[in-house]
Amino acid sequence: MKKKIAVLPGDGIGPEIIAEAVKTLDKIARSYNHSFDYIYVDIGGCSIDKYGVPITDEGMNICKNSDSVLLGAVGGPKWDNVAPQIRPEKALLAVRKELSLFANLRPTKLFLQLADASPLKTEIVGNGIDLVIVRELTGGVYFGERRTEEINGELVATDIMPYSESEIERIGRVAFETAMKRGRKLASVDKANVLDTSRLWRKIMHRLSEEYPDVSYSDILVDNTAMQLIKNPTQFDVLVTENMFGDILSDEASMLTGSIGMMPSASLSSGTLGMYEPIHGSAPDIAGKNAANPIGTILSAAMMLRYSFDMPGEADAVEQAVNKALDDGYRTGDIMQEGKTLVSCTEMGDVIANNIL
Ligand code: NAD
Repeated sequence: MKKKIAVLPGDGIGPEIIAEAVKTLDKIARSYNHSFDYIYVDIGGCSIDKYGVPITDEGMNICKNSDSVLLGAVGGPKWDNVAPQIRPEKALLAVRKELSLFANLRPTKLFLQLADASPLKTEIVGNGIDLVIVRELTGGVYFGERRTEEINGELVATDIMPYSESEIERIGRVAFETAMKRGRKLASVDKANVLDTSRLWRKIMHRLSEEYPDVSYSDILVDNTAMQLIKNPTQFDVLVTENMFGDILSDEASMLTGSIGMMPSASLSSGTLGMYEPIHGSAPDIAGKNAANPIGTILSAAMMLRYSFDMPGEADAVEQAVNKALDDGYRTGDIMQEGKTLVSCTEMGDVIANNIL
């Protein structure tokens, strides 16, 4: 198969980790007889330096006309004080919006080899954590009307959280389909005891659940979910929730695995186009040192193979290659344990690519 991939390395460790993901994709292409065409686009601080904007119109068009987008990370202290309208992360929001990426999938997986890295006790982590949070990404309070006004002599701020039936239904479908491909268990997170948006959310999720009788469905309140993720995270398979709840819960869940460098993510549209990126930032403290963990980015590339290119066998091969690298004791600095082999970012990339036969 021939695929066109827009590659956006970005800033800080972005170019280092992206190089290793591309190395992995190249090995997949050779082993499985595919052809991946990479078109590099500047994004974030490096684009501000060159063009005065965090992404150019041309760069955006390349993303729109590709089969998928692979992103490193953007930002860093150099651009902390640029004008708000050209901040590096504005480019990320712009790509999400332009490509209508309404569904954010964040798998949270604790590799058993790294169980000691989890802040939770081994008896809670059990046989490893393996869940996915499906977060609605383009609606809710982050996109609703907002204002600050003076009422009776004091400032009053208002943020509106709108959700339409169609917005809820399309994210619900992504969640049910994701559950069908995994453990067939879905929990929908809301605050239906208080919010109207949550009551509508729940009504539509219930309607959808009738279309997916093979998925064991439940509702759970967001405050309880925050607690259960710490108390008993292995009970979850797929969680679906609105934008702000998902933002908070997915960060909480990511910490259960111990290292932010391990975590991939996918942002999907209603078609096959998606944007794939690790959840961490540009890590300016280790940039240029060849010390970053490339696994989150490599696993993001695996998600791209699975969700955008419909290549489940190839995605499995990448995930198994990562697992074998950990089994064989290779560790970057962030996940280093006594008795294991410390490797650089490029060495970890080499080991993983070589593990793909
Ligand atoms: P960060 O995720 O960049 O770093 C937090 C800590 O985790 C640092 O100590 C870093 O060294 C470590 N770390 C992160 N990724 C790692 C990896 N792959 N391997 C090993 N260690 C890793 O978060 P931050 O320091 O708060 O932010 C730095 C910059 O990144 C800021 O400018 C921020 O705005 C930006 N940022 C970008 C994104 C994105 O591009 N999606 C996300 C978050 C933050």
